Amino acid sequence: MARLDPKNIYPYVCEEEKGDKNSTTFFLKGLTVAEYRECEELLSEGSMFGEYGLRVVKYGLVGWDNFVYEDGEVIPFDFNNIGSIPYIFQIEISNEIVELSELNNELFEELELVAKWGDWISRSSHPEHWECEYCSEKKLSSIRNCDGTQTYECQKCKGRSNDEICKKCGIATKVAFRFRFSNKKEDYVKRCPVAILTSRAIKITNLVNFMENSKTLPFPGGALEQTNFFYMLRSMVLSEQNELLREEMDRSKKELERKSKGTGN
Ligand SMILES: [Zn+2]
Ligand SMILES: [Zn+2]
Repeated sequence: MARLDPKNIYPYVCEEEKGDKNSTTFFLKGLTVAEYRECEELLSEGSMFGEYGLRVVKYGLVGWDNFVYEDGEVIPFDFNNIGSIPYIFQIEISNEIVELSELNNELFEELELVAKWGDWISRSSHPEHWECEYCSEKKLSSIRNCDGTQTYECQKCKGRSNDEICKKCGIATKVAFRFRFSNKKEDYVKRCPVAILTSRAIKITNLVNFMENSKTLPFPGGALEQTNFFYMLRSMVLSEQNELLREEMDRSKKELERKSKGTGN
């Protein structure tokens, strides 16, 4: 969870210099909410990328090591010396800082899955059927595609694999197992959901909920001084949960309406 610390430092070497003995190390940090917003405003004002990128670097670049002029003279760390960094490196560094400050798609999807799963299991009448050991105990692992190697099934030879065309029969295979979270068209996964929950996404979800309930923040300072990364995590977890809660309320409302009609009220 070091990424939640606004003061956490990330050493970075530019692609071109990776593996190079004389490479320069740049020290980066993720942007705070306030810094990120300020940079974003520059973008929305329609200013050039250069201005936006520079502002990102101004906040996110906090030091460097082994940065020298051609004659070997050390370049002291100072934002005014930023021009000494080759332009392509400046762009690379600013991209890296933005990446440190945002939630990437991979983690986004992991968190989404935890939220959907948490919602589904809370409504399940047999939650114990979806515990880690249950699949292997009941020999459901291959049916549920727990290890992710048996996503498709050939209708002819019944062979399972991850191939969309059966290697033996040469015909198109079909998805072998679908776990549906709801009746919505694409709202399913092709593997045992328990097997694909990631521990980091579970931890983050718990942490966000804990902080929300206890009205605390990960680090000292106000909301704007937290990392933008945390802010994005928080928004993601809470909005996904709210969305599911809304759906749940719609469901129970419809259920009630159906019941009241049934009794002639
Ligand atoms: Zn499983
Ligand atoms: Zn086949």
